[in-house]
Amino acid sequence: MSTAPVCVSVDCPAKTNLTLHVGDPREQWGGRHELDTIYCAISLADTLTATLKPPGTGFSLELEGDHLGDLSSADMRRNHAVLALFAMAEEAGREPDVALSIDKRIPVGAGLAGGSTDAAGTILALNELWELDWPLERLKRVAATLGSDMPFCIAGGYAHGTGCGERTEAIAPDCDEAAVLRRQGYCGSLVVGAYRSQLSTPQVYAAFDRLGAGEGDDNHLQRAAISLHPRSGEAIAAALGAGARHAFVSGSGPSVVAFTPTPAIRQAVVAAWQHSGSVDRIIAAEAPAEPMLKRHGCTIS
Ligand code: ATP
Repeated sequence: MSTAPVCVSVDCPAKTNLTLHVGDPREQWGGRHELDTIYCAISLADTLTATLKPPGTGFSLELEGDHLGDLSSADMRRNHAVLALFAMAEEAGREPDVALSIDKRIPVGAGLAGGSTDAAGTILALNELWELDWPLERLKRVAATLGSDMPFCIAGGYAHGTGCGERTEAIAPDCDEAAVLRRQGYCGSLVVGAYRSQLSTPQVYAAFDRLGAGEGDDNHLQRAAISLHPRSGEAIAAALGAGARHAFVSGSGPSVVAFTPTPAIRQAVVAAWQHSGSVDRIIAAEAPAEPMLKRHGCTIS
């Protein structure tokens, strides 16, 4: 006899942007800029658990983690995972009687899409918990209503993003383009340099509108992010000086990602960051990460 799950857990990987080209703001997109980006999921992940609650009891949210940033004091109804729960409940015509808990490891407000990936994980978890069995395309449609990097967060791996970043096309692991990315060193071990401080994405775009992109920067937001958070620039210089193959601001920053082709180089980057004090926390990860994985769907017997 098959039984419905009472709770479902999903690992929600962070993302970085291997390239991020920012075009003009578009009136028809509410002033958001046109983007052309290569997304890459990384193995640093939050774990989202959704558990059924008795009918009529509403939702709850529990957050765990040592670095919750502004989330600890934020209104939980605005949490991206809760917004995803409301969106799914509306689409499915159900009440949001679900307990959500998030084990947060992804730094908050860091350019690593922590909020979006938790929301994407919530959508996948509810698809299973409520036995909706919706196809990926329908789940991505719900995701796209919540944020432009969310459809990618569901897909994982490498992908091209256009539009405001919401139109994504997967780069299959066995295709030539993925092979080129791997040859260029955008795979395997990396270290994330993270900060206690956060950057607001709209503020970074406002700085970009004033300053433009830095010469030769594959991440057009890097110069703007560094202008607001100079330590990110110091961390990039330290990582490149220690032999990192690539080091750049992740998305809208302030965190920095450094690809480290050998264990010795990874050690050297870690030592350089510790010595220079240019980051607050160092997190090891791998890229590209697998699509979101269901970790343990508990079932009642
Ligand atoms: P963006 O997707 O705008 O580039 P980001 O990756 O820089 O964002 P996030 O970690 O997603 O940063 O946080 C952006 C804001 O979203 C924060 O100020 C945070 O309070 C809010 N937020 C809401 N829910 C979450 C969540 N589950 N995890 C992280 N941040 C969240």
